[in-house]
Amino acid sequence: MITKEKTTKLDKIAAEIKFFKGLDIARKATNAVPGEGNPDAEILFIGEAPGFNEDKLGRPFIGQAGKLLDKTITEVLNLKRSDVYITNIVKFRPPENRDPTPEEIEACRDWLDRQIAVIKPKYIVTLGRFSMAKFIPDITISRIRGLPRKIGDYIIFPMYHPAAALRNGDMMKGFLEDFNKLKCLVFPEIPTAPVINSKPVNVQETLF
Ligand code: URA
Repeated sequence: MITKEKTTKLDKIAAEIKFFKGLDIARKATNAVPGEGNPDAEILFIGEAPGFNEDKLGRPFIGQAGKLLDKTITEVLNLKRSDVYITNIVKFRPPENRDPTPEEIEACRDWLDRQIAVIKPKYIVTLGRFSMAKFIPDITISRIRGLPRKIGDYIIFPMYHPAAALRNGDMMKGFLEDFNKLKCLVFPEIPTAPVINSKPVNVQETLF
């Protein structure tokens, strides 16, 4: 699919999300947050659900967790935020940042599936347990984080959520380690050096 066609399809999905009023959180949202980024992205990041700042502006990952995500995309992957695509499992803010319910996840599932099918990324990076569970259910994130696995047409790369990394030093260490693993996976030709307080890891050992 050419880029223009992808943009048209993604815009149509975004319009559907913005007009949707079938969930309480959709009716209460200041703005829906469909997602944003490069329609031809090789890497798709999937978070959990919008928070306060995202709801205000209708853009994903623009609060503190988003700042960490931006910083790691730039400093570890050497990419711009606009090179990747960023979206969430749930497209509306749950009140008080509570966990999304199974009904909310289910109501948003088709939009996410269609976004993935249009973008056709090579890598899907899941941020946090709700996003991971879409592809790899019934497992704890700490057991499989940083280990890529091929599922269908995509390489799924589970990571801690950046908000969890901001709350917990060990998780921050894991988050940065995993970003360096992701770099080795996406850019195997770059010999790689430690970036931001973390050692590079040879992903060939863990790949598939
Ligand atoms: N946390 C998420 O999971 N998604 C956002 O867009 C912002 C914070």
